[in-house]
Amino acid sequence: MQQLHEFVERHPRLFVLSGAGISTESGIPCYRDREGQRTGRAPILLKDFLGSDYARRRYWARSLIGWPVVQNARPNAAHHALRALAARSRVHRLVTQNVDGLHTRAGNPDVIELHGNIERVRCMECGERHTRAAVQRMLKAARR
Ligand SMILES: [Zn+2]
Repeated sequence: MQQLHEFVERHPRLFVLSGAGISTESGIPCYRDREGQRTGRAPILLKDFLGSDYARRRYWARSLIGWPVVQNARPNAAHHALRALAARSRVHRLVTQNVDGLHTRAGNPDVIELHGNIERVRCMECGERHTRAAVQRMLKAARR
């Protein structure tokens, strides 16, 4: 922690790249273990999602179950610490690989979300945009 503090004090314009590890304290499971090996199921690839009705059904079935974890997650101390650094103009650029939106929910301005944000859904047929919460209601209604 002391080394990190000194590093931050020495470098006034930080480029921050965050990944899944920052959100585990918020209860969002990491896809990799400490050695970097993937744990759990393989994610559905975009080309499969776009090209296969079966893959899309599988994705949404899994997402129906998994979404509440992301929806109920709250930013943790690391997200808030980066927000505090940004407020002091110490973060030149904040880029995340995460789709959970927790940097934004912590109040971080101008987050670049490399893989998008799971909160926003666009219909592949008509292009209409929906919140993920609205899609969850549609999924639950379709399940009955
Ligand atoms: Zn549509």
